[in-house]
This record gives sequence, structure tokens and C-alpha cells, in this order.
Amino acid sequence: MKAVCLKGPRQVELVDVPVPDIANDQLLIRMGASTICTSDLNDIRANPFDIPLPVIIGHEAAGTVVGIGQDVTGFSLGDRITTHPVHPCGYCSACREGKQHLCLNMGHFGIDLQGTMAQYYYVRSDRARHIPDEMPFPLAALSEPVSVCLEALAQAKLKAGDSLLIMGDGPFGVLMARLAQTMDLAHVVVAGWQDFRLSFAKSAQKINTQHLEEPVPALLQPVDSGYDAVILAVGSAQAFHQGFQCLKPKGRLVVFSAIPEGAQVDLMTVHIKEMEIVGACNDQDRFDEAVQMLTNPALGIAELITHQFPLSQFEQALHLAENAHDQVMKIALIG
Ligand SMILES: [Zn+2]
Ligand SMILES: [Zn+2]
Repeated sequence: MKAVCLKGPRQVELVDVPVPDIANDQLLIRMGASTICTSDLNDIRANPFDIPLPVIIGHEAAGTVVGIGQDVTGFSLGDRITTHPVHPCGYCSACREGKQHLCLNMGHFGIDLQGTMAQYYYVRSDRARHIPDEMPFPLAALSEPVSVCLEALAQAKLKAGDSLLIMGDGPFGVLMARLAQTMDLAHVVVAGWQDFRLSFAKSAQKINTQHLEEPVPALLQPVDSGYDAVILAVGSAQAFHQGFQCLKPKGRLVVFSAIPEGAQVDLMTVHIKEMEIVGACNDQDRFDEAVQMLTNPALGIAELITHQFPLSQFEQALHLAENAHDQVMKIALIG
């Protein structure tokens, strides 16, 4: 089968490898769509998580069941499914405490499990969900991005009538903005640098800060006294500082995007205003809720898939995803 393989920094090739064998608890999937994630681009550029190379990349995907391990129940050949890349071990201390998404022995597509940018991939059956017949695979492939966005919103601990500022207009930021529409908030504001991308935030208020010398007053403009929560959906220390300054006392900053170089935290303000800074990375069991959200026509999540390419045109797809932020939101590779 053909697969997209990361061999070294910026060295990505289409390789020919055998179709994987499956274990008794796994399904073999014919890939229908695998969407490109910002983290794929980061891995290709700098491999910040030290993934052992070479590796077949990709982790957001959906497809058709073409093989079933002998212990698997509930799936049939030909079933259309979406898959979750995170495979908790089930027995480590984190798993036993109910924090499977922070499993100490986690398996993950494109890291220590084969990635999904391939004609075939495998999944442990508990990490697969059926999708409706009419749901296109590129939309279904977004189940994991939606799951992690639901987690970030949950970590913001918002109540009806609260206000939320999302820093970042990439696919995650605009997904969060759309999902936040279901939460009865007084204000959902998205800040970013691209009008094209901001336009995907649908009914949220959009603020382009690219050319603002003082973004904070502009970000605060929609609210009286700051935001109840800010979600950092861009890996920028500058955005972190701006977002932090926009919080109310007792406000909560959710660190969803990594800032590999770190950021200075104003601990005096954390102390005086009793602020909270929390992380959100994987999702704690939000897969089923995410599949539900994909079927919600009011959220229109399919609109985020702006481009589709066959697997063989992966180079063009990756190039666009990295460089054309003014034209591209989410790109799907099609199996
Ligand atoms: Zn991802
Ligand atoms: Zn575990």
C-alpha cells in the first residue's frame, strides 16, 4: 500500500509498505479521508515530540472496515467509521484514575502506532465509532479535532452568560468558536491575523489583531470588564500575554496550543487576581459527543474542509496547509 512517511526534518515521501496485520482487538480500515493537522506540520518541520523516525504520519481519519480481529464485536466488514488516535493502555496509574487521555503508556497514530495518511491503517476497536451513511469521510475525520476542542471548552469551565476569548484563528480556534455557539455564552470572540480564517468562526465576534499596535484594548472592547475565560489556540507567547491581560479576576486561561519556547507568567497578577492557568491537550472521553457535533447541521463543521487531494498529491497538500493560511482551512487527503 502507499503511505506518507516522515523520514527526517522536512523529508516526507510516499512509500510502498505492506498492508498492516491486525491484532485480535483491532480493525483494519481502508482510509477514506485523513485530514492534515497543525501538529503534522510541526512534526515535519521540527519533530518537537521526538517521534522515532521513520514514521507514517497522520492521526485524524475515517474510513471503511475491511478487516476485523477475532475478539472484536460490534463491527462488520463495510462499516463506515471514524477513529480516535489516542489509545490508552487501561492499566497504568493515570488510566486507573480515570485519566485515560493522559495515559503513561499511550499509543498514538503517527507516533508509536502507524499513522493514517496511508491507504490502510489499523485501530483498536474501542477507538472506533460508526458514522451515519451520509456523512462524508473528510467531515468524519474531524472527530478527534472536535473532541479536543470540546475538552478545551470544558476546561474553560464556562457557565451560561459568561464571555470567552479564543486566541487563534486556525482550524482549532474556529472549531471552538462554532462549538461554543451551543453554550449560551454572552460573548464568543475570536482573535487572529487572517480575515479569511476568521470568517470561518461563523457567528462569533472576530477581531483581526495583525496590524494593531495595542491589541489588548481592541480585544477588550466587546466586554465590560474582561473575559471569564481565554483559550490559547495559537502557539505564541505574545498571544498568551495578550490573552492573559484580557481576563477578569478569577479568570481562567486554557493553554490548548503548545509554546515550545515557553512564556513568562506574571505570577503577581495570578496571585492578586486569583487567576487560573490550566492545560488542555487530549480529550477525556469526548469522542461520542464529538461524533454528535459533526452531525449537527447548525454547526456546519463540514465547511471547514476547504481542500481535498488524493494521497499521491500529499506534497502539494502539505505545502498549502503550511503556507496558504489566507486560502486554506482544513485539507483532507483522500484514500
Ligand atoms: Zn490533530
Ligand atoms: Zn494507561
